[in-house]
This record gives sequence, C-alpha cells and structure tokens, in this order.
Amino acid sequence: MEVSNKYITIKNHVDGAPKESDFEIRAASLPLKLQPGSTDIIVKTLYVSIDPYQLNRMKTTSSSQSASSYSVAINPGEAINAYGVAKVVVSGNPEFEKGDLVVGFFSWGEYCIVKPGGMIRKFDSMGFPLSYQVGVLGFSGLTAYAGFFEICKPKKGEKVFVSAASGSVGNLVGQYAKLFGCYVVGSAGSKEKVALLKEKLGFDDAFNYKEETDLKATLKRYFPEGIDIYFDNVGAEMQEAAVANMNIFGRVAVCGIISEYTNSGRRAAPEMLDVVYKRIRIQGFLSADHFDVYGDFISTTCDHLRTGKIHPLEDISSGVESIPSAFIGLFQGHNVGKKMVQIAEE
Ligand code: NAP
Repeated sequence: MEVSNKYITIKNHVDGAPKESDFEIRAASLPLKLQPGSTDIIVKTLYVSIDPYQLNRMKTTSSSQSASSYSVAINPGEAINAYGVAKVVVSGNPEFEKGDLVVGFFSWGEYCIVKPGGMIRKFDSMGFPLSYQVGVLGFSGLTAYAGFFEICKPKKGEKVFVSAASGSVGNLVGQYAKLFGCYVVGSAGSKEKVALLKEKLGFDDAFNYKEETDLKATLKRYFPEGIDIYFDNVGAEMQEAAVANMNIFGRVAVCGIISEYTNSGRRAAPEMLDVVYKRIRIQGFLSADHFDVYGDFISTTCDHLRTGKIHPLEDISSGVESIPSAFIGLFQGHNVGKKMVQIAEE
C-alpha cells in the first residue's frame, strides 16, 4: 500500500516574524512497506508539538543551531522534525510492533520514517489523553519542572515571577510554584489570559504586560518586597525589569527569550551592578539536559493530575494544513497553553 504523505516545509530561511508565505505544504508518495532487512519504522503522526525554538532553526544563522542536536538548522524544502505522539504502522525494528503508540521526534507531517537510533519510545498513557504526552507530561512539563526545581532552587514562601505565564511552559511553572508554597505573579498578553491565571490556575496575581508602559515600576507594584525567582520566557525589557526588582541572592532561570527570536536587534541588558551587588544568579538551561529528574517529574505530575491539583492547559488545532498558522500564532500570543496540532485520530 502507498499513501500520499503531506508535510510542512519552509520555502526560505525565516529571519523575522514567521508568516504564511514562508511555508508550504508538500505531498510525496510513501510506500507503507520496508525493504527486506530494513530496521526502519514507519509511523503515522497523531499529535505534533508546536514550539517557539523551531524559529531559531529556520533562521539563516543562529548560535542555537550548533548548540544541540535538537536545534540544528532546518533548510528550505526539508521535512521539519518535531516532538509528538505517533502510531507504528510498519516496523522492521524488533523493539516495535505495528499498532504501538510511541513518543519521540517525528515530523510536521502525516507519516515519518524513523531510522534506527532515532529518539522514539513506547509509553504507557496511564489513562491520560494522548495529548498530555506532548504537553504536561512531555517536554513542556519537563522544562517547567526541571527549570523551576533544578535551576531556580525554590524555597517555600519565596516570591516568583513568570513571564509568558499562560503559555505552555509558563502556566506549569506557576502551578508547580503555587503547589510548592511560593507567591506567584505571572505576566501575559491579554485580559482573558490574566483572568485565567488568577481564576483558574491559582496564581496570586497577574498582569497584562501590553498595558504597562514602565515594566520596572510595574514589577515594583506587584512585588513591593522584591522578586526571589524570575522564570524568564521572553527576555529583553522584561528581563531587565525583573533583574532591577530582584532580591539579594535572587535567581533568574532563562528558559527562553521569545521576544528576541523575531527581532535579532532586541537584547536584554540587565544592570550588571545589580547582578554583582545583589549576587543574582542568571542561568540558561535546556530541558534535554535534565532527564535525570524525568522519573520524579512524571510521578509528581501524574499525582497532581489525578488529584486535580494541576490543570493541563492545551490549545489543539487540527490537520497538517493548520501547522503554519499554529506556529505563527505563538509569536502573536494566539495560543493559550500548550500549542499542538492533531494530525490524525488514534
Ligand atoms: P508558549 O509560551 O506556549 O507560547 C509563546 C507565548 O509567548 C505566546 O503565547 C505569547 O503569549 C508569548 N509571546 C510571544 N511573543 C512575545 C513577545 N514579543 N513578548 C512577550 N511575550 C511574547 O511557548 P512555550 O513552548 O511555553 O515556550 C515558552 C518559552 O520557553 C519560549 O521562549 C521557548 O523558546 C522556551 N522553551 C525553552 C525550553 C528549554 O529547554 N530551555 C523548552 C521549551 C520552551 P502572550 O500573550 O503572553 O504574549
């Protein structure tokens, strides 16, 4: 049997904000059978993750492209690999059988051939929806968990600020921090997102950064006694304002700097005298370096999900054709929670 495999690719490198005309959908016929002796696997994609870091891979050049095997450059015309959930349709690999559900790196497309050594594993859904494997129990969850507990090293009662707080990673950082016993304020880009953080996710407070003209004064208002931990998802002026309001021995976990991804001229220039005299630690991190806490992350998060203490926030579009707009929307604040695309029903 042969299928027509639709997948998304870029037409050109993308150096500013992504737009529809940067992408195209291609179709290639794919025989659903393997050469004799092949140890490849062919999978059908069910859900794919839509993540901001893919933009750095699409640029003509970016220091991120040589930093990790996850973030290598994407060239025009190539299929774009991405994390997701899939079902094995043909297997030449003795570890997998037709029908197995797997998570790993597949593609922004309907089918994908996974070579031996590709990052893929079977999983137990533990009774949760499959989409949780992409969001709350996937890389977003691990990023929030490892970033908050390993990088921020919180103490009960500390004051935590999270930017892009209604996004995939940010909402979970805020929820973990509240469950741990911190005071948590989030920033987000709309009134509706602010209401969600306060009313549904239990943040102590939240504000719409787009309505603020002086972010240093804003943070002073929300943290009159200073910030102990800043979980940075956006970079630039917000990072500068947070550093200006940090307490001594404050910690800044730089998870991402999305406001700089679309504009190479934007930079955070935090006051280094504050960093020195307040002994602030500013640390970047990648979740892929923290698989040592994976077991703790899964067991803690599953417990919180079962007892209803963590609310998973998902934002799911459907069909491979919707991938470009889903991705573009990340940089315009369209998503609420984990953005993913459902490509097919199980
Ligand atoms: P996300 O927060 O679900 O989506 C992006 C959000 O960022 C948007 O909804 C938007 O919300 C906000 N945003 C977009 N442009 C902005 C701008 N110019 N200024 C301020 N906010 C802006 O995405 P995510 O997957 O959770 O990723 C969040 C950050 O973590 C990103 O920087 C990403 O690269 C990083 N990340 C890092 C790792 C790691 O291992 N270090 C892993 C995953 C993600 P608003 O409506 O609030 O503007």
